[in-house]
Amino acid sequence: MILPDLATKTVLVTGASRGIGRTIALALAAQKTHVVFNYRGDEAAAKELAGAIEAAGGKATALKFDVTDHAAMTSALDAFFAAGNTLHGLVNNAGKSKDQLMLRVKPEDIDDLLSVNLKATMVLTNYLTKHLMKAGGASVVNMSSIVGLMGNTAQTVYAATKAGLVGYTKSVAKELSSRQVRCNAVCPGFIATDMTAALPDKAKEEYQKNIPLGRFGETQDVANLVCFLLSNASCYITGEVIKIDGGLYI
Ligand code: NAP
Repeated sequence: MILPDLATKTVLVTGASRGIGRTIALALAAQKTHVVFNYRGDEAAAKELAGAIEAAGGKATALKFDVTDHAAMTSALDAFFAAGNTLHGLVNNAGKSKDQLMLRVKPEDIDDLLSVNLKATMVLTNYLTKHLMKAGGASVVNMSSIVGLMGNTAQTVYAATKAGLVGYTKSVAKELSSRQVRCNAVCPGFIATDMTAALPDKAKEEYQKNIPLGRFGETQDVANLVCFLLSNASCYITGEVIKIDGGLYI
């Protein structure tokens, strides 16, 4: 897949240290994109990722911030823009899950998942709005989940955060369309990463039985879609919520 305009773009990917985010960062690098990523503190891992991005053909900038630390986030990004950088794309990918039955969910679990999965995306995107409008033809991709559309046992809180992203995505698309900023949500089904590795084998078998394409998704499957949504190839698509789940939710 060659998306030539991505070679002229700078894209921020959150949660790129591993899993889906890392594959998105490397897929963008293969398109020669300037990839900006955040990391929470592991300097060696950030250096390794920057090296991998450059080896794949991209340019890398690492910014140190936790997505829930809004002061650190704005200060890192203020410095990035003060250095004369432009941002054409944003992938709000950082996220976490904590599967547990409703009876066991504590109020602080709700705060934690809301803060990482939903609030951080809203704070970061809102902060970046003026920069994205300035870039001309910018694209935002929010990483929701199939669970945000269909619900799931033991994932009430996670599902609510991911459903919240759907409302946010559609509203951003409406509000910023006149400024040529697009915003779409991606809803992966079951993708093989650390997040899903934590599930019991029995749950994995159950999932697989219900996936018409008969396999778990690869991180590359999601990265292909995200690259398309960031590129001009998708320039007439905004406010969409795109399932990428092997047919799980047909
Ligand atoms: P993962 O392997 O667990 O990776 C999560 C990423 O988010 C890591 O880079 C992690 O950074 C980062 N992160 C978490 N909390 C953060 C914070 N407070 N500040 C900064 N970064 C933070 O997850 P994944 O499976 O790749 O999932 C990526 C996204 O896709 C998530 O939003 C997830 O909800 C969504 N999703 C995944 C699946 C699936 O089947 N895997 C399905 C649907 C949706 P650290 O390395 O520093 O922890």
